[in-house]
Amino acid sequence: MISVPQEMASGSKLAAPAPELDFATNSANGDTSLLTDGHRARSGPDQHAARESVARCLIDREFIEHVPQVERTAYVCDPDDAYDIIIAASATAHTYADFIARCSNPAAPMIAFSGALGPRADVVLRDASASSISAAISHLQPLVRALAALPPITRSIDRYGLLALCLAYTRECSIDARWQPHDRRLIGYPMLLGIDNPRSVLEEMSEAGLMRRRFAERLYLCGRCNSSRVHVREVCVSCKSSYLHEHQLIHHYRCAFQAPQQQFETANGYTCPKCGKRLRHYGVDYDKPGVIVTCGSCGDHFAEPQVGFTCLDCNSYTAGDHADQLDWYHYDLLPDGVATLRVGQLPHPGIEEPMTGACSLRDFRLYLSRAVPAATRHRRPLIAWKANLDFGDLREQVGPRAMAETCRLVRDLVVQTLDEGDLVAALPTGVVVCLPERTRANADIIVHGTLEKISETVKPRVKISATLYERDQISSLLQELN
Ligand SMILES: [Zn+2]
Ligand SMILES: [Zn+2]
Ligand SMILES: [Zn+2]
Repeated sequence: MISVPQEMASGSKLAAPAPELDFATNSANGDTSLLTDGHRARSGPDQHAARESVARCLIDREFIEHVPQVERTAYVCDPDDAYDIIIAASATAHTYADFIARCSNPAAPMIAFSGALGPRADVVLRDASASSISAAISHLQPLVRALAALPPITRSIDRYGLLALCLAYTRECSIDARWQPHDRRLIGYPMLLGIDNPRSVLEEMSEAGLMRRRFAERLYLCGRCNSSRVHVREVCVSCKSSYLHEHQLIHHYRCAFQAPQQQFETANGYTCPKCGKRLRHYGVDYDKPGVIVTCGSCGDHFAEPQVGFTCLDCNSYTAGDHADQLDWYHYDLLPDGVATLRVGQLPHPGIEEPMTGACSLRDFRLYLSRAVPAATRHRRPLIAWKANLDFGDLREQVGPRAMAETCRLVRDLVVQTLDEGDLVAALPTGVVVCLPERTRANADIIVHGTLEKISETVKPRVKISATLYERDQISSLLQELN
């Protein structure tokens, strides 16, 4: 079992785990109403009703005997098989990593029987009765349909990124950082259960402009092993022991001697150990100018202890002013993330198929934002153009799977028209090109030639809208790309 994240202290920006209820949903809108069969039949087209007539539920083979048979439900045990819903009778974090890597439907709605799976469980049932399972399956039908409308998440290099986008989109939530005391990083993303290193996946989505990050927490790191499971301590500046005592200082005015109070304490009150005089009146004979810290281990004394961290994982000590920090974020889905999800492929040219002059959208934006003022200053031409595929039309013609393929073909054709110095970046629904040092007439010829080539080559015919931006209009393109 993985441990349930601990609730944060009040005022924290990190989310606490969802409470476990008899019938709890983790949906962002908190809708716990159960749909009846009648609602379900009316809520979608006939084909959906037909498909829903049997819900295929994935369940761990060793638990299948403990889960009752439910009407109009078929249990499958092989994660490679097609299924609509996951019944997580046993799932633990480590079995999950393997499961997510190979299963056919990693974003499927999940019914769990405990809060251990955190926000990734869409429904938490306290009892595994046929009626409660049946109610949960009915309740999850809108989610099943929402997922069926998206391209499948295949076993490609994009799998984890698409899965993160898909969970945020279909669950209408951000991917939140939460405390995970069992993890040496101390913070994790339980919504991305089973994804190895979810932070880097989310950072990639943020760099690609598909998600926006929102500050969650700043953690200190062990200087030796990078663990954030560190214990903060006040220690002796000499020997790093935390066995410290604070003492009041006494200052004898007459002889100017100053020492911890216990050195002045005698049976008849305070006596100065240096000059032997009695100290009678506070403010007349002596005062107490502050405290001193003494170390019970080495005897050293100092005004301020050092603050530092002891690592709970490797036991080494890191001084506070030398400790590295790591910022953690929550991640919100952006419209480009939704568009990418509908395409079923992440916009990262250069990883799967290297493209000449291709760069990330982020680099493209950066380049343009610097090129425009430079070109204006030197009165040089600068032209950009953008092609957007009509995805609604394309989906109707070729379906979601072939859509990504068509999009890639269009991008390849655009890349073939590039010259040295030209730059291209993939958009979720098309491509954007920068043509430095070209006149408007020259750019028109290039754009028309490219569109002609696309209409000759790409079958079925795709509807493409192309927009051309001259130097002074590029700022509006940059706004669109942000
Ligand atoms: Zn004295
Ligand atoms: Zn010491
Ligand atoms: Zn350490």
